[in-house]
Amino acid sequence: MTIDLSGWGRFPVVQTTPFILKESHSLANKIARKFRGIAYAMGRSYGDSALASETIWTSAYDHFLDFDATQGLLRVQAGVTLKAMLELIVPKGWFLPVTPGTQFVTFGGAIASDIHGKNHHKEGSFCDYVNWYRLMLPSGDIVRCSPAEHVELFRATNGGMGLTGVILDGELRLKPIQSAFIEMLTIKAKDLDEILALFDEYIGYTYSVAWIDTLARGKNVGRSILMLGEHGAEGGLRLPEPKEKSLPMEFPDFVLNPLSVGLFNALYYNKNIRKRTQSRVPYRPFFYPLDAVLHWNKMYGRRGFTQYQFVIPKSERESLKKILEEIAKAKSASFLAVLKLFGKENENWLSFPKEGYTLALDFPIRDGLFELLKRLDKLVLDAGGRLYLTKDAQMSQTMFRAGYPNWQKFIELRRHIGADKVFASLQSERLGL
Ligand SMILES: Cc1cc2nc3c(=O)[nH]c(=O)nc-3n(C[C@H](O)[C@H](O)[C@H](O)COP(=O)(O)OP(=O)(O)OC[C@H]3O[C@@H](n4cnc5c(N)ncnc54)[C@H](O)[C@@H]3O)c2cc1C
Repeated sequence: MTIDLSGWGRFPVVQTTPFILKESHSLANKIARKFRGIAYAMGRSYGDSALASETIWTSAYDHFLDFDATQGLLRVQAGVTLKAMLELIVPKGWFLPVTPGTQFVTFGGAIASDIHGKNHHKEGSFCDYVNWYRLMLPSGDIVRCSPAEHVELFRATNGGMGLTGVILDGELRLKPIQSAFIEMLTIKAKDLDEILALFDEYIGYTYSVAWIDTLARGKNVGRSILMLGEHGAEGGLRLPEPKEKSLPMEFPDFVLNPLSVGLFNALYYNKNIRKRTQSRVPYRPFFYPLDAVLHWNKMYGRRGFTQYQFVIPKSERESLKKILEEIAKAKSASFLAVLKLFGKENENWLSFPKEGYTLALDFPIRDGLFELLKRLDKLVLDAGGRLYLTKDAQMSQTMFRAGYPNWQKFIELRRHIGADKVFASLQSERLGL
């Protein structure tokens, strides 16, 4: 059976033959039979990292294996989602050490992208909390990887976009909490200088993220709202079930034009009328505001969208300003623009975070978009930055190699274990991996 498949951006779309992973021995048989493809989990990567003509679907491989609620250790199969984990662990006083902006992500997908959250500047990325996992190699053999076992494979697989093997199961260290609520502080910033100064001033906060109005121009460039948060002590560990709404249809393209996005941005900015607002919110709206509308990705119309996320060193404030000016000038509506601060990079070969500012921007696919992204690429490269693989659908090989100095080591390891013959995605082919 062949079906159409895309990532969260709904661009590009490929035809794929899915293999549903239920047991590890059937996967070994599958791989042995001239397989060439990649793991696909919840498809929350935006572009083509989980796309190939053959895909291994891991979301049904989703058993909980053990939960030590005294030590905060959770053992799961790769297809267990962060949502399912939270439902189990929060009532027992534990939380995920690192979480992205959606809970619809699996354990395997979180490792393969070495995902980051709003706390990278203080607490690093997801794989820093993974004690070990079992990986199925292209040979069908299963090895245990950890900071002390098969270390090179561990470093290559963390953030390695599924290109070294299939993660089967593993163990995560959790973080203790006293409440399911977050004490949140929001602060308005009138421009880029102010928001960057606020990031520094509030660096002691565990969670920080800024929403930026990308259509603001001139002296308003960087106009934004900073959201800060700490796990609270009040409110208890149980929350009512949220009411999720689903976006019933695709929006026609004209809905997301610069005018409507500008209006939205202005309204959103003004909604937070007061300069500073303090509130207590359940963890879901704080970490996962977009999850409240299922399938919100349909909002961008039939051609889909792409997310462009880069990181540049902290010293490159001027480059950040130039990038924001370039976007505003192009009048290319970015509905969602999120700025975060990263702390030090870890030892994983292809992990994205490194010390600096990271900006994530959603762009609907339009004529002229890729030309704009090429101009942004140049600014990012000149600033010594790089792009995030899990969001990418268009990065060039040159851009990849310049941003990820370990690329050669990664290719050699793939050759050494025979992964170059077995595991490949549209993205890995484009990047020459
Ligand atoms: C609304 C939204 C917000 C987001 N916010 C953030 C954020 O704040 N920070 C962040 O870092 N990311 C963020 N992301 C991206 C997301 O966290 C990553 O793309 C994540 O990897 C998706 O996981 P998935 O389970 O859906 O995997 P998929 O998207 O299906 O696959 C992603 C990659 O993981 C590989 N993979 C999946 N399972 C396995 C396995 N078992 N073994 C080996 N390889 C595997 C795939 O081959 C592919 O290369 C966000 C995404 C969305 C949609």
